[in-house]
Amino acid sequence: MKVAVIGAGWAGLAAAVRLAEMGVEVVLFEAGRVAGGRARSLEANGFAMLDNGQHLLIDGYAAVFELLRRIDVDADAVFARTPMRWLMADGWQFQAACLPKPLNVLVGLLRGKNASLSEKWRLLCDLLALSWWQRLGSGDKSVADFLAQRRVSAKWRDEFWQPLVWGSLNTPLESASLRILANVLADGLGCDFCLAKGDLGALLVNPALRKLADLGGRFVAQTRVEQLTQINHKYLIKNEKFDNVIVAVAPYHVAGVLPEWGRADFQAAEKDWYYHAITTVYLKYSQEIQLPAMMTGLVYGTAQWLIDRNYLNGNNEIAAVISLSEQYGSLKADEWAAKIHADVLRVSPNLEKPIAFQVITEKRATTAIAINRVPFNQNYLNKKGIFLAGDYLSERYPATLEAAVQSGFQAALMCYAKNSAT
Ligand SMILES: Cc1cc2nc3c(=O)[nH]c(=O)nc-3n(C[C@H](O)[C@H](O)[C@H](O)COP(=O)(O)OP(=O)(O)OC[C@H]3O[C@@H](n4cnc5c(N)ncnc54)[C@H](O)[C@@H]3O)c2cc1C
Repeated sequence: MKVAVIGAGWAGLAAAVRLAEMGVEVVLFEAGRVAGGRARSLEANGFAMLDNGQHLLIDGYAAVFELLRRIDVDADAVFARTPMRWLMADGWQFQAACLPKPLNVLVGLLRGKNASLSEKWRLLCDLLALSWWQRLGSGDKSVADFLAQRRVSAKWRDEFWQPLVWGSLNTPLESASLRILANVLADGLGCDFCLAKGDLGALLVNPALRKLADLGGRFVAQTRVEQLTQINHKYLIKNEKFDNVIVAVAPYHVAGVLPEWGRADFQAAEKDWYYHAITTVYLKYSQEIQLPAMMTGLVYGTAQWLIDRNYLNGNNEIAAVISLSEQYGSLKADEWAAKIHADVLRVSPNLEKPIAFQVITEKRATTAIAINRVPFNQNYLNKKGIFLAGDYLSERYPATLEAAVQSGFQAALMCYAKNSAT
């Protein structure tokens, strides 16, 4: 069996490695110069390699950690790990206690700072109500509706729910799916935070490509696959014939790759999806930075989270994450840098101006995780030997690295099973 995997983001990498492990001949095509997709690494003036966005993982990302094991990467060596810590410099703060889940969260919340005991109790009740609502499987509604029904105060909306939803779903409260948020909390609350000590390319993407090569697979960069055509039940790509194809490109590129007969259905589904931006601002300082934690949140800042990269690579760098960054219009890079430096000064007032900055805006960073979002049904494509992979396919999770890797594994297994059965 010979399979083409189109797109070397994390979904495509996971699919290619998994297929190659099962003895399948795999060719991984990538339009860009490097693999990694939206989580690729890039060179930037004045910095060591940077990622396209500062990525946060949790140790509950089971598929990602499985991929790391499969590509011989020691997760303990590549990640800086801390117990879940919610540290808003200008608001509510808590840290999961060193206890088994969910006790770690319960005790951590009760010990939290900048809130009265009755406020903490209210928050616990709201979290429990959400958990019950999820167990009852009662359809879906927006997070904003849930907060209104629970009469959650503006303080708790701003200091907890909004940063949580923006950070995990990159979707406004008014349209964000409560069902997906409940899944995120059920699986993720109390997990450790993991941040890569170096760039994701060197730590994770390159080892995946090495593993693929060791297993006999091929990686072909700078090769954009055009609309698929079939000859004698084989797909023809760049003069090579393939039995099956895994399409692991972002949702807005899928229709351009699918054959004519598969295009219309996908386009019909995709017209209801929309995207939100994430901007990452990297600042480099000449002085030593000392933020209160590896990740410090701001309730009333431009950035929602400031990551002190000193904890990661020993450099005096900050990565600021701005979810839903389209709300700021089109700022120039130096305007972003000035705004984020002002944020940093609120936490670390003695810092001089940064000596270098890099601003990266990904306009279609993730699909909106909207209420009642219907995942695409790919049965018809599967029958014809095409399998989709990508972060937008998960019914359970928002568009994340975990969703991408899960979908890649699943596509590989479905593709393999189809061929074993025929
Ligand atoms: C700024 C930012 C911050 C983020 N932060 C987090 C985070 O903290 N935690 C988290 O879990 N997730 C985060 N995400 C989401 C995460 O990066 C994505 O969910 C994940 O990278 C998507 O992987 P993918 O393989 O599904 O798609 P992609 O990464 O989009 O990969 C698709 C690949 O296909 C290639 N391609 C497209 N068309 C073709 C073609 N015709 N032929 C060949 N190749 C093609 C593209 O070049 C690309 O490399 C963030 C995303 C962004 C943008």
